[in-house]
Amino acid sequence: MTHSAPTPGAVAPVIELSGIRASHGEIEVLHGIDLTVPSGAVVALLGPNGAGKTTVMKVVSGLLPPASGTIRLAGRDVTGITATETARLGVCSIPEGRGVFANLTVRENLWVAAGHRVGLEELEEVAYTRFPRLGERRDQLAGSMSGGEQQMLALARALGTDPAVLLLDELSMGLALVVVRQVYDVIAALAAEGIAILLAEQFARIALPLADHAVLLAGGRVVHAGAPADVERELSTTYLGG
Ligand code: ATP
Repeated sequence: MTHSAPTPGAVAPVIELSGIRASHGEIEVLHGIDLTVPSGAVVALLGPNGAGKTTVMKVVSGLLPPASGTIRLAGRDVTGITATETARLGVCSIPEGRGVFANLTVRENLWVAAGHRVGLEELEEVAYTRFPRLGERRDQLAGSMSGGEQQMLALARALGTDPAVLLLDELSMGLALVVVRQVYDVIAALAAEGIAILLAEQFARIALPLADHAVLLAGGRVVHAGAPADVERELSTTYLGG
């Protein structure tokens, strides 16, 4: 393997995984993943159930230490650091299932997210400006809101931490198509603001139009990586028999 010297003035990718192997218990489920999220880019991480998308997200967010390989964030080798430390470095994840607290109100969910980096008032103002629906429902229990509203709350919580990169896992899960479109409109707006996004989706057609790059996983390996149009072509020939 050759390592070229970084170009002077070049911005390091926000995320760079090289040769990542990771296991759940005894069973290795990622078998040497290479994946790069350039600064400000949206990368779609695609693949069927069980391909390893969520496991990649866990490795990037520091929840699952890799057995081997390296993780770089903004050019810095951070392999082995904890989830708290990755969050401090600006990696923010919305896990599958959204990670909102059902028994807390919208405001309380925002309070919990506020942490030490931003003040609550500022967080609420930013959240309600971006998502007026949340402002109207600030005292409603999160668990009684619709799936789309909960996803908006999850995004609001994440954005309150002013992330450098968002890890979004299966945002469309359990949502009606019309709601998925609304959620994806928000993602497109965030991408346009320059936040780098790693977007895991089982349904490629939802994620690809938004992506700058796409990575197709199967069986814990990258089977294709490149421009979204190329990966879409690969998907239709490999999986749809086109
Ligand atoms: P999905 O789209 O269904 O969420 P995925 O691409 O996100 O799938 P992963 O959840 O990363 O896939 O799972 C990859 C493999 O690891 C699967 O075979 C899965 O059964 C296994 N796996 C995931 N989590 C665990 C766990 N906690 N313990 C044991 N095996 C696990």
